[in-house]
Amino acid sequence: MDRPRITIFDTTLRDGEQSPGCSMNVQEKLHLAQQLDRLGVDVIEAGFPIASDGDFEAVQRIAAALRRPIIAGLARACTGDVDRAWQALQGAAHPRIHVFLATSDIHLKYKLRITREQCLAQAREAVRHAKSLCADVEFSPEDATRTDVPFLCQVVEAAIAAGATTVNIPDTVGYSMPEEYGNLIRTLREKVAGIDRVTISTHCHNDLGLAVANSLAGVQQGARQVECTINGIGERAGNASLEEIVMAMRVRPDRYPYETAVAAEHLFSSSQTLAEITRVPVQPHKAITGRNAFAHEAGIHQDGMLKNPLTYEIMTPQSVGVPDSRLVLGKHSGRHALALRCEQLGHQFERRELDEIYRKFVVLADRIKKVQDSHLLELIQDVVKGNVSHSDAADNQSKKFPPATAALPFQRAAAANANEPHPAQVSGSAGQAQPRPVCPAPTNWFGGASVPLADHHSEQEDYLWGV
Ligand SMILES: [Zn+2]
Repeated sequence: MDRPRITIFDTTLRDGEQSPGCSMNVQEKLHLAQQLDRLGVDVIEAGFPIASDGDFEAVQRIAAALRRPIIAGLARACTGDVDRAWQALQGAAHPRIHVFLATSDIHLKYKLRITREQCLAQAREAVRHAKSLCADVEFSPEDATRTDVPFLCQVVEAAIAAGATTVNIPDTVGYSMPEEYGNLIRTLREKVAGIDRVTISTHCHNDLGLAVANSLAGVQQGARQVECTINGIGERAGNASLEEIVMAMRVRPDRYPYETAVAAEHLFSSSQTLAEITRVPVQPHKAITGRNAFAHEAGIHQDGMLKNPLTYEIMTPQSVGVPDSRLVLGKHSGRHALALRCEQLGHQFERRELDEIYRKFVVLADRIKKVQDSHLLELIQDVVKGNVSHSDAADNQSKKFPPATAALPFQRAAAANANEPHPAQVSGSAGQAQPRPVCPAPTNWFGGASVPLADHHSEQEDYLWGV
């Protein structure tokens, strides 16, 4: 039976990186992108090029390094953002510009301060501009699930007419319920002219713990792309977890008869790679990749497992790449076993590096008999750190001790009267002859010394970080 193919759009490097404590430097992003490539995701959203020089460089380097997946760069619906994204994507074998614009009345009124008509014109114009540069254009109506449905249909239809090839329907605030989200996708399929020509995508946040359920409901109603992240990291309560989406389809094909190109045996190592890079641990009972996901504590469970794993196991740890815990690493373990365990923990090494790790491993094993994964990871860190350049080391240092970005109390007080231009004050009215929306320079609302970041946090950060 030919099952519909679901495109896996990974946004760990963009939405995921917005999780508090999950920011990554360029080198780390490239490393994670290579792991995502190994995992077999179809699209890697590598960053938001206009947001910072670091984001720009990360997108540029990932675009140049990875030839198989589509590399997407995020842009607000305005010329400056789209141009910057396109510039960063120049070296990509398969570039995609991802344009977003909020469409809910609450965002239009309080954040963007534009009318529905202006919103419609801005979406149309930005997609048209992106399309003039890049054949592959995705459009996201931010806060779609709280948008008036007839207006949402209108905007999506305009984006398709302007050349969008994927329309993504974000549940930006994690408000939707599965049945409701599925119905929304179905309504769009029924009402929007031209929707059969494009891919419908899901992008669900996890504020009510429903991101995965909502994404799957969307797929059941015809969405063919799912946006998700490793370990479900992302804004606030996070995004839909890639490993849960993939394994739900694999374990329950009777309910979800769809295919993905993800190599599930790399799920665990991808999760580990991310956790190590960000130093944000995976919660122990996280489905699929948590350390307890395959642990059986209760005696009766253990007894059942020993008699037949099917009694309590709906998938094997090996199927998602969890190392076989029966394989104990000790001083008699060979290089091959060591290399395999390193790989399972998300690290692939050249011969020379592996030799170095092996030498240290043997010394350690001699001392402590049984080398646990945590020991091995420390050892790997030592070797990797020894090999990084000074500039990277400096980069790591600055990551560990980032400069304070939020304004101090006295700065806030001083800035309270400052009349900062609101970034949402873009473009002319829709009545004018097709004005190209212009985004404010990021320095107005990012890092400038006088900018009261903390005060503007909610509106400006949401505005910048979009879907
Ligand atoms: Zn998001």
